[in-house]
Amino acid sequence: MKNPGRNLIKRYVIANWKMQLSVAESETLALDELASCGEMNEGLEVVICPSFTALERVGKAVKGSLCALGAQDLFWEAKGQYTGEVSAATLKELGAKYVIVGHSERRQHLGETDLMINKKVLQAVKSGLVPIVCVGETKEERRTGKRDAVVERQVRAALQGVKLVGSQELLIAYEPVWVIGTGQAVDPEDAARSHMVIRETLRDLFPEPVAQRAHIIYGGSVDSKNIDGFVRFPEIEGVLVGGASLKPREFLRIASVTWQAVIKHNISKR
Ligand code: PEP
Repeated sequence: MKNPGRNLIKRYVIANWKMQLSVAESETLALDELASCGEMNEGLEVVICPSFTALERVGKAVKGSLCALGAQDLFWEAKGQYTGEVSAATLKELGAKYVIVGHSERRQHLGETDLMINKKVLQAVKSGLVPIVCVGETKEERRTGKRDAVVERQVRAALQGVKLVGSQELLIAYEPVWVIGTGQAVDPEDAARSHMVIRETLRDLFPEPVAQRAHIIYGGSVDSKNIDGFVRFPEIEGVLVGGASLKPREFLRIASVTWQAVIKHNISKR
């Protein structure tokens, strides 16, 4: 993708296919989505994150296209006696550029802690993968007024000791846990508020202009009907899409609405 200049924006549309598809289904869906997103390059990064087992076939499908490949997890050690784990080097060998870290489903079902997530982020950055670090409050945390504190704590913990050198980037996905997979996204304005809290935290953690290489995206029941609302907010630099990324027409509209917003903005800045 072209590298936007100072006033030009770049947006991300990231598909998280979770554990929903077989290897063959993943390859077919990748080819479908590639065919649709093929022309949208300027300022838009489309990333497909299949399960580990489908990375190789999907990697071959996206090779040479404008879509990038991402994994859904990695292990924090480079190599060794860690049965069942997958290293950053293996992900890179398969063509992955991105890796999701600390998804709330892993925090919830696999007991991933802030410390484990931090070690994974450090390994991803060290290995030259772009981490997509997921943070977000539960319904109870929001109800009890802890939303901002939880999100800030998760960002600080995940990025402890992280240095972005060269052109290294990272993404924070703000994903309110209680809306994931429900079909009911939060109001875009509400999401933008958390994005501002995250941006402030990033400014505190990284000097300018390094902080500008940390991008903040929203995830949680994004679909073709609500995407227009999210692209209006400059704080929201893209979306992480679960359920809707499994439906090519849905995903195409999400990517195309996002891309049109990028083009409209960037033309006005030229
Ligand atoms: C996710 O799990 O990261 C996600 C955003 O899922 P969904 O879009 O289905 O809410």
